[in-house]
Amino acid sequence: MGIAENILHLRATLPGHVTLVAVSKNRPAGDILEAYQAGQRDFGENRVQEMLSKAPQLPSDIRWHLIGHLQTNKVKSMLPLVHLVHSVDSYRLLKEIDRESAKLNRVTACLLQFHIASEESKFGFNLEEALQMLEDTEYHCLHNVTVRGVMGMATFTDNQHVVRHEFRELLRIFTFLKDEYFVSSSEFFEVSMGMSGDYELAVEEGSTLVRIGTSIFGERIK
Ligand SMILES: *Cc1c(COP(=O)(O)O)cnc(C)c1O
Repeated sequence: MGIAENILHLRATLPGHVTLVAVSKNRPAGDILEAYQAGQRDFGENRVQEMLSKAPQLPSDIRWHLIGHLQTNKVKSMLPLVHLVHSVDSYRLLKEIDRESAKLNRVTACLLQFHIASEESKFGFNLEEALQMLEDTEYHCLHNVTVRGVMGMATFTDNQHVVRHEFRELLRIFTFLKDEYFVSSSEFFEVSMGMSGDYELAVEEGSTLVRIGTSIFGERIK
C-alpha cells in the first residue's frame, strides 16, 4: 500500500481521541508531502538537524514533534519550529528549554520521557527523579514550559505481555503524577506511547499519541 492509503487505514483504526504522529525520520520531504496531502499534519523527527533541514521545504502548518533524545546545545535552534517535545529526559534539559523559550517569549509544550523498557540504552526519567524535579522549588519558576504528559518506549520484543506491562506502568506513572502534581492543571493529559509494532496494545492501555513510522512509510533504509 502507498503512504496515503496507510495513513487513511490508520486513521480509520485509531479511536478519535488518539493523535497520529507520522514518524518521518530518514524519509525524504517528498514522502512527507504525500502524507500531508492525505491530511496528515503531525510529524515526528528524532534529530533536530533533520527536522530543521526538511521543514523549510514543506508546508508551514505542519506540527513538528521532537521524539528523539535532545542535547541541550540543540534546544535553541529547534524551538521556533517545534510543536511538542516528547523526549524531555532530564531536569537540566527542561530548564534549558525554559530558559531559551523565555528569550523567545514563548511557552514550549513538553512531555516527560520515562524509562519503562528493560533495555539499558533508552533514555528517560525514573519516577524518583521526576518527583525530585517536581518537588524542587525552582521547578515552579519555569514559566516558559508546560508539561503536557508523559512519553515512553516499550522493550523491543515480540512478547506482548512484557510490552503491555510496560505501557501499563507508564499509564500508572501518568495517573499518579496527574493526581498528585497536576490535579489543578487542564494541560496534563497526553500519554505518548505506541509505535508500528505495538500501537494497538498502547491504545488499549490508554495512549493518546501514537508515533508511527514503518507502518506508514515502509521499512527505513539505513
Ligand atoms: C523511530 C521511532 C518511532 C517509530 O518507529 P516505527 O517502528 O517505525 O513505527 C517511534 N518513536 C520513536 C522515539 C522513534 O525513534
